Amino acid sequence: MTPQPSAGSPSPASPAAPAARANPPVHDERQRPLRDLRISVTDRCNFRCTYCMPKEVFGPDFPFLPHAELLTFEEITRLTRVFARAGVRKLRLTGGEPLLRRDLERLVGMLAEIPDIEDIALTTNGSLLTPAKAQALRAAGLRRITISLDSLRDETFMALNAVHFPVQKVLAAIDAAAAAGLQPVKVNMVVKRGANDREVLEMANHFRGTGHILRFIEYMDVGNSNGWRLDEVVPAAEILQQINAVWPLEAVPPEHPGEVASRYRYRDGQGEIGVVASVTQAFCHSCNRARLSADGRLFTCLFAAAGTDLRGLLRTGCSDDDLYAAVTGVWRRRRDRYSELRFLATPRQPKVEMSFIGG
Ligand code: SF4
Repeated sequence: MTPQPSAGSPSPASPAAPAARANPPVHDERQRPLRDLRISVTDRCNFRCTYCMPKEVFGPDFPFLPHAELLTFEEITRLTRVFARAGVRKLRLTGGEPLLRRDLERLVGMLAEIPDIEDIALTTNGSLLTPAKAQALRAAGLRRITISLDSLRDETFMALNAVHFPVQKVLAAIDAAAAAGLQPVKVNMVVKRGANDREVLEMANHFRGTGHILRFIEYMDVGNSNGWRLDEVVPAAEILQQINAVWPLEAVPPEHPGEVASRYRYRDGQGEIGVVASVTQAFCHSCNRARLSADGRLFTCLFAAAGTDLRGLLRTGCSDDDLYAAVTGVWRRRRDRYSELRFLATPRQPKVEMSFIGG
């Protein structure tokens, strides 16, 4: 990927661009190309969001991965080169909370050197995103950032994050990201009935005209710990209806195949919003995302029951061709369509926790 000029750094022309197309993507059994890789760099988080990592389950004694079991930055980079050879072009760094991993900008810099990679993004809760960290990530090659914020009211937000973390600090992180050139910032709001569903218009109003893109996420039955109930899901259609009644919207075509959010712009020119409707409008047909856990397992769906261990291969001295065969073999056999089958009476297996593989 061509490193993006941060203030003052010259942007070297990337000689590799034409060659990058020499690695066409592998396709799965539903002809979905492997294009996006989500890399979880830690299973730990400093929040305990009730819809993802409830503190009743992820308490002080929870057996998080010891450091020695985490992939090193060098291992992540080597694996990412292999994924790029298999067709990956876009990366998203996630967690847990990825900024808990020290010197993350060093990893961003290493990944930015991989010729085939066209885009590097980060999803964070913003709690550790200082202006200096935002600048360092941008200078290293980070292109885009998504910051989670479920409410503008401390009472609601603290109840959802369960660690008394204030709204103001996340708003400051959004400003820091924007000041560092990571614009537009995407802001993710998970909407849960009975928790923050009455604040949709308030959030929309706050981010209208800022240039940032607010995305409303349907509350999902991820993992096995959040006590998910369908009647606590606010369908995307209902959210759009609420907003459209006040600020008329129009649909925006997707920028690329496999885009997770459906996009809408305000007709009055005050910006864009998105909805991620995994529960009511499944988008498995175009899902081109693989996920790598912090301990080196490859998952082919957010709701998968198990992953394929790549760290074992890495740490027993295999070749890149062996890794490539392992990655492409898994993807070619992929059939995942959990969201399409969610309401069918298919037998249920315990799912991987979202905090383990990133959203
Ligand atoms: S449910 Fe699985 S296959 Fe469907 S869109 Fe989500 S991650 Fe992709």
